[in-house]
Amino acid sequence: MNNKIKKVLIVGGGIGGLSAGIGLCKAGVHVKIAELQSQFNVYGVGIIQQANALRALDALGVADEAMQHGSPYAAVKMCTPLGHVIGEAGTPPIGRFPSHNGISRKILHDILLKATTAAGAEFKMGTTVDTLNNQPDKVDVTFTDGSSGTYDLLIAADGINSRIRTMEFGEYKSNYVGLSVWRYSFKRLADLDTGYIYFGKNSKIGIIPMTANTCYMFIVSAEGADNPFIPAHELIPKFKGYMQEFPVAMIQQLIEQVTNPKEVNYRPLETLQLLAPWYKNRVVVIGDAAHATIPQLGSGAALAIEDAVVLSELIQSNTDVPQMLEAFMQRRYQRCQMVVDASETLGKWELMMFEGKSLPEGANVGALMGRTCGALTAPI
Ligand SMILES: Cc1cc2nc3c(=O)[nH]c(=O)nc-3n(C[C@H](O)[C@H](O)[C@H](O)COP(=O)(O)OP(=O)(O)OC[C@H]3O[C@@H](n4cnc5c(N)ncnc54)[C@H](O)[C@@H]3O)c2cc1C
Repeated sequence: MNNKIKKVLIVGGGIGGLSAGIGLCKAGVHVKIAELQSQFNVYGVGIIQQANALRALDALGVADEAMQHGSPYAAVKMCTPLGHVIGEAGTPPIGRFPSHNGISRKILHDILLKATTAAGAEFKMGTTVDTLNNQPDKVDVTFTDGSSGTYDLLIAADGINSRIRTMEFGEYKSNYVGLSVWRYSFKRLADLDTGYIYFGKNSKIGIIPMTANTCYMFIVSAEGADNPFIPAHELIPKFKGYMQEFPVAMIQQLIEQVTNPKEVNYRPLETLQLLAPWYKNRVVVIGDAAHATIPQLGSGAALAIEDAVVLSELIQSNTDVPQMLEAFMQRRYQRCQMVVDASETLGKWELMMFEGKSLPEGANVGALMGRTCGALTAPI
């Protein structure tokens, strides 16, 4: 093990932070995770983990558990609003890992949390960093609970609104792309054999297997350039309104299950890219804090897990810390940028479609998705 990094503070216990916690504990590093929430509160809809995400979860030893508690499936069927299949999408299978695994976000988080705890990470819940003094050979931290510590490395995995990123790299503003996602969980349809995406005039609807008994729906829509607030009483009528535009049985038969506004998860979509390098002295930024992408390729969490796997691997190499962090950038920057850029382009085209505009010459949704997902099979 690189004896220069023995003690690491991870800020943020989301998918990226927990993945880094598992990888580093397994590498023999002492890990503390500071999480702002006093108790994890992960919302219940699903998340798509493609083959490259499963490969990264396998490096952490949790891919099989994620597949057992999720719902592995093959390519996604891309359909017209009437249900005619016009193509297939998704990362091709990698070795024993299928193209996709749909899983509840809460279940995935629980699996990662259990593995992080079992690996020996310490948690500081309801706490964050108050001040930090980032030096070439260590980082001194005070926490909001009044305690303090000195670490060989601080990993900022605190999401798109990362406070650590702001402290070290200044203000970055996320970019609202003009689209929103609505999500809702359902009892699984008996004939749901894979993931389906229906492209409509005003929205796009995806139906994704989540467990043996459940699936979830996402709806992508354009609510307005000014990112309007949607009051609670409008969530159900709007959600159902989008569903009604798709006259296929798979969507129509789910409408009556949409009853609880508290279970409609509505999120305007934002991107953010931290300029390279994502490190300074002994602070390194990973996951959404460095490269938040819109979910048009269902790959943001996959990138966060991959960041954690690569960083854990490099920390075990016998390299000086600046070279090690530079090697991290070499392995991560272009790959993450490819996903963020391609997702943004897909989002732009979707917005144009929902606004009734013609797509730019040469725009080809299937080709861009296929190219990008194909590239994700490359080793990390
Ligand atoms: C609508 C939508 C759908 C998506 N679907 C998919 C998908 O299907 N597949 C996929 O791979 N990705 C998907 N993503 C992306 C994925 O959710 C993110 O990329 C992923 O959650 C990033 O993980 P993270 O750990 O970097 O950040 P986060 O998940 O944001 O976790 C950050 C953690 O840090 C904590 N925190 C925040 N601030 C502080 C602080 N100051 N101090 C301490 N802790 C702090 C938070 O409480 C949280 O626990 C989707 C995203 C959206 C918006």
